[in-house]
Amino acid sequence: MRRWQPHGTLSLIMAQEGTQRPTSTEGPPPAPRIRITKGKPWRIDAARRERWSAEDFVREHALEIRQVGDPVLHRPANRPKMAKADLEALIARMFASMVQANGIGIAAPQIGVPLKIAIIDVDEAGIVAIEPTIDEISEEVEETSEGCLSVRGFYGMLERPLGARLSATDVNGKRFVIEGDELGAQCMIHETDHLGGTLYIDHLRSREDLHPVHPDETEEVGA
Ligand SMILES: [Zn+2]
Repeated sequence: MRRWQPHGTLSLIMAQEGTQRPTSTEGPPPAPRIRITKGKPWRIDAARRERWSAEDFVREHALEIRQVGDPVLHRPANRPKMAKADLEALIARMFASMVQANGIGIAAPQIGVPLKIAIIDVDEAGIVAIEPTIDEISEEVEETSEGCLSVRGFYGMLERPLGARLSATDVNGKRFVIEGDELGAQCMIHETDHLGGTLYIDHLRSREDLHPVHPDETEEVGA
């Protein structure tokens, strides 16, 4: 997933809800927008992050991101049944591909693998969700921008819930639950949608809510 920040008046509004939060010297740091509320899932910790985002590793392991129209993006993925070592190798590839594409989340079908595995990395959460489901969403919604690594060159405007709860299993088959706010919730929903064969553009009210990203626009590394 990726978020775009358009220029102009809109960007003033959008900047406040972007992926990069303003740093303040006063008070405690802002709470992460994704929290583990049940379980202790295996995740992309600092050591894995360092290894899998190293330049050489990315060059060797990153794959091209499949683009809208590719059948693998438009049908539900399957339950993964693989040895843990193979699963970890696949997750490393997904992560490297996400890093190369400046994403903050990625789903296995986006690198051509039709399995229900997603990485959710808002605020470097490093969550790896296998067979995730969105169990609850907030009634409160926000009108927001959304982009996708698989819909290159565009962003859309749509309503998304401000909060969401997701449950999944980790690479060891252990259940866990996470909760997310704002971009965190948006990313959880976006990636879970991918595993069901749905893209954000399928949620747009009209074609007019889809906008090209102009070359002079600032790309906000996000979703
Ligand atoms: Zn996407």
